[in-house]
Amino acid sequence: MRPYNFSADPSTMPEPVLRRIRDEFLDWQGTGCSILEASHRSPRVLALVKELEERVRSLLGVPDTHAVLFCQGGARLQFAMVPMNLLGAGTVASYIVTGTWSKSAETEAMRFARIQSAFAGNGTRTPSDEEIDVTAESSYLYYCDNETVHGVEFAGIPDSGAAGVPLVADMSSNFMSRPVDVSKFGLLYAAAQKNFGPAGLTVVVVRRDLLGLASPEVPTLLNYAVYEKTGSMPNTPAVFQLYCSNLMAAWIESEGGLAEMDARARERSRIVYEALDEHPDVYLQRVDRASRSRMNVVFHPAEEALTPVFLKEAHEAGLLNLAGHRTVGGLRASLYNAMPVSGAIALADFLHAFARRHPRRA
Ligand SMILES: *Cc1c(COP(=O)(O)O)cnc(C)c1O
Repeated sequence: MRPYNFSADPSTMPEPVLRRIRDEFLDWQGTGCSILEASHRSPRVLALVKELEERVRSLLGVPDTHAVLFCQGGARLQFAMVPMNLLGAGTVASYIVTGTWSKSAETEAMRFARIQSAFAGNGTRTPSDEEIDVTAESSYLYYCDNETVHGVEFAGIPDSGAAGVPLVADMSSNFMSRPVDVSKFGLLYAAAQKNFGPAGLTVVVVRRDLLGLASPEVPTLLNYAVYEKTGSMPNTPAVFQLYCSNLMAAWIESEGGLAEMDARARERSRIVYEALDEHPDVYLQRVDRASRSRMNVVFHPAEEALTPVFLKEAHEAGLLNLAGHRTVGGLRASLYNAMPVSGAIALADFLHAFARRHPRRA
C-alpha cells in the first residue's frame, strides 16, 4: 500500500490516475510516442485541451458568459495578472485578507493599484458579509477562498453588497472540491497542484466582458484576452500538465463530481477535527470553528518541542508530510480531493495514539 501523503503542495494524486499515466507513458493513444513528445498543434493535443475545457465547464457549471483559460506561472503569477487585466480605467482594487495568500496577493497588487482594505484578518477567521467594506470605485473585490497556510476557508461566497464590483477569488487550494456558482464571479482561478493535478497549470475562469481591459503595455503573455483568442496557446503550453489535469477531471467525474468531492471533503475533515478536539490539552487550534478549512487542517502541539517527534512517528506510521508551513510552524494535514477517507481515519487513529503516548505534563 502507498503511504498517505498529506503534503500541501504539490499534493497526492489518485492512484488510478498515476497508473494510467504510467501505462500510457511510452505510447499515448497508439501514436508510438509519449505525451511528452506530442506537438501542442497536433489534432490529438488540441482535442485533449478541448476535452479538458469541456470537463471544467461541466464539472463547475461554467456559463457561456465566462471563458475558461489555461495559463502557466502558478497561482502567484495571477497575483499580478489580476490587477494588470482587471483594473481597466480604474485605480483602486479592494482586498479581503484572511491569511498568507490573500496578503501576498494584496502586496503584489500594490505595484499596480491603490489598495482599499475590505477586511484585514489575522489568519484565524473569515469575515461576515457585514464586515466587508468595499468602495464603489473599486475595479474588483479580491479574496482567497481557502487559505492553505492558516487553514481558513469561506463557508460560502462572500456578499459585500457592492453591486457592480466584480468578485475575484483565488481557489487554488479548494478548486473542484465543492460546487461553485460561477455566475457570481468576475474571475476565479486555481493553480492545479493541490486538487487538480501536478504543478505547472493554472485554470482561470473569467467573465468575457472583463477581457480586453488590459492596457497596451501589459505583456502579451500576461493578457487574458490573448489566451482567449489563441485557445490558451499563445505559446507552447504545458502539454503534460494539461494531460494530467484532464485525467484528474475525468477521475472526479467518474467518482461522482463536485457534490461527491464536497461530501468526502466534509467527511475527511470532520474525522480529523473530531480527533483533535478530543485532546485539547495536547493539540491547539487557532482557527474559529466556523472558518475551519475542509482542505488544510492546521494545528500545533501544546508542547512545541513535540512537533519533530510527531513528524517522525507519523512518518514511521506511513503518514507523510504533516509539517506546517515554514512561516507558521506546527502541523498541517492537507486533505485534498485525492486523499481517501481511509487516510483521514488513519490520521485520526494516529492522533489518538500520539496523545496517549505523550500526554501533557501538568
Ligand atoms: C499554493 C497556493 C498559492 C501559490 O501557488 P503557486 O502555484 O506556487 O504560485 C497561492 N494561493 C493559494 C491559495 C495556494 O494554495
